[in-house]
Amino acid sequence: MRLKDKVAFISGGARGMGAAEGRMFAKEGAKVALGDLREELGKEVVAQIIGDGGEAIFVTLDVASEESWRKAIAETVNRFGRLDILVNNAGITASGGVLETSEETWDQIMDVNAKGVFLGTKVAIPEMRKIGGGSIINISSQMGLVGSDTGSPAYNASKGAVHIFTMSAALRHAKEGIRVNSVHPGPINTPMLDEGFVAPDRESMVISRTPMGRRGEPDEVAYGVLFLASDEASYITGSALVIDGGYVAQ
Ligand code: NAD
Repeated sequence: MRLKDKVAFISGGARGMGAAEGRMFAKEGAKVALGDLREELGKEVVAQIIGDGGEAIFVTLDVASEESWRKAIAETVNRFGRLDILVNNAGITASGGVLETSEETWDQIMDVNAKGVFLGTKVAIPEMRKIGGGSIINISSQMGLVGSDTGSPAYNASKGAVHIFTMSAALRHAKEGIRVNSVHPGPINTPMLDEGFVAPDRESMVISRTPMGRRGEPDEVAYGVLFLASDEASYITGSALVIDGGYVAQ
């Protein structure tokens, strides 16, 4: 098992890619804490993991609040004794160009997608120091590497922030054995994508621009996150793993 005896915290673990990572990590031997605002859904994922013979807990978390992060990580460490892995996965999306984006929307996207990653990293590092290292995986997006003429500039900016923040955090903590990497998914088959594809023609436009010509599946991202979380990636820090069906290669 690739994560045997490790403890992993996954934000936004109640559905979508975070839930897929939770299930996969538990199968690979990790004890998993899923942090999310969606308590009911999160508890269902935890029940599935336990039903499949894994170990998991649900923890209420608002990633935009430092106090919430402190409580969530403390609860995880109280329950499982340590913290080896943090996946900063929680995120929200938006629509509309520069002129359609309100100040409120900009702040909300930045609070969850960018500040949420910073706060999770800040609260996790002291726990990882106690055990001599760890792995932090920040979920950015293909939209954190390239611009978009149809997507939300606020979303782009928040995911770009995650990309550069990841490199700086990696450099700061490399000597402590704390690895920090980002993952950049393309269009992945999750509730967020369905919500973002409500506008007519948006899905066909995005998929037609994706060289592989289809949505990715949550497990196709989770395998990459699993690799970065595991000791197999022991010499990888500050890197950006692109899992996007070829989108940013164009
Ligand atoms: P999703 O909406 O299906 O799941 C996201 C989860 O995050 C939800 O359970 C939600 O409740 C939780 N969340 C939102 N705000 C939160 C907050 N303030 N505190 C705690 N939890 C919160 O989304 P997904 O598609 O699984 O996306 C996961 C990550 O991948 C996000 O960061 C997203 O931006 C990124 N991403 C998604 C795609 C895609 O096509 N689906 C592509 C690239 C990147």
